[in-house]
Amino acid sequence: MQKIHELTTILADQIAAGEVIERPASVVKELMENAIDAHATQIDILLEEAGIKKIEIIDNGFGISQDEVELAFRRHATSKIVNRTDLFKIKTLGFRGEALPSIAAIADVTMTTAVKDKPGMLINIKGGQIIIKKSAPARVGTAIVVKNLFFNTPARLKYLKTPNTELSKIVDIVNRLALSYPNIAFNLKHEDHQLLKTAGNGNVQQVIANIYGLKNAQKMLTIETENIDFKVSGFISLPELTRASREYISILINGRYIKNYQLVKALLTGYGSRLMVGRYPLAVISINMDPLLVDVNVHPTKQEVRLSQESQLMELLTSVVQERLATLNLMPDGYQNL
Ligand code: ADP
Ligand code: MG
Repeated sequence: MQKIHELTTILADQIAAGEVIERPASVVKELMENAIDAHATQIDILLEEAGIKKIEIIDNGFGISQDEVELAFRRHATSKIVNRTDLFKIKTLGFRGEALPSIAAIADVTMTTAVKDKPGMLINIKGGQIIIKKSAPARVGTAIVVKNLFFNTPARLKYLKTPNTELSKIVDIVNRLALSYPNIAFNLKHEDHQLLKTAGNGNVQQVIANIYGLKNAQKMLTIETENIDFKVSGFISLPELTRASREYISILINGRYIKNYQLVKALLTGYGSRLMVGRYPLAVISINMDPLLVDVNVHPTKQEVRLSQESQLMELLTSVVQERLATLNLMPDGYQNL
């Protein structure tokens, strides 16, 4: 047995990376979240070999200043929260300061970034080690290229599924973020194939059409309701439009796509007997609430949240869905047209 000693930063980052970065889709999610937090209005995602060989994400957000670029890659370094109270009212998608150091620990990462009216910066980090850091011309915003993911963690690389499965997980996360942020123009390309392109004009139904097709988008109903704590709005499909899996239900809390079985259940309860067993609607439901009512600091991937008034929210969701579907009997053609 050896003496107790602290792990090197590189090793600690590699270990922590295991929690945040499971697969190429996790890289895409974290980097897109950073671009969104930087107020980008255009985000391009370019992939090679399902992201395993290369993921490139280009945003037109506010960029990182030269003197902060290296710090951005250190663990627990963030510009998004400062003190303990901030932790209870998180308005950004990121806050843990873990994504960049984690990704840089297990891949070959090059970031080019610039803030307004300042020279840009290029940094290349491979397996946690800075290889290049220099001034470089750059547009305002950030471009990041992640190559050879898991090159130094062979067990992780082996655990990946087929490229098709990995790609579908990336498409899924990009779709959900596009649905969450209709004001941002997303462009997703895998090699020569364009997999998604949204206009960024704020029209959710148009994004639904981009993802699920125009015909389906025309079979969506709007819902909207609020009480003192919650504001619920979004789109739910006509009962005739269903799928065999609940994957087509997206629930967003304060702009964050989350996984919450209870809220899905509340939605399904609203449909009641209109759904056949094993069939699920399509839905994009956006819930806004005081950040104090939601704890996002449950898991490193930030997809699970704890809600302090979950049952009240479930009731609100069930009743708005019920009431909206009840109007169908009155006016069968009462759905929106694009
Ligand atoms: P977190 O997002 O939790 O703060 P990250 O490791 O993802 O942690 O990023 C660290 C910091 O780097 C962020 O807080 C932010 O200041 C900066 N940053 C990362 N990506 C971008 C980006 N695309 N545009 C502007 N700033 C960024
Ligand atoms: Mg982040």
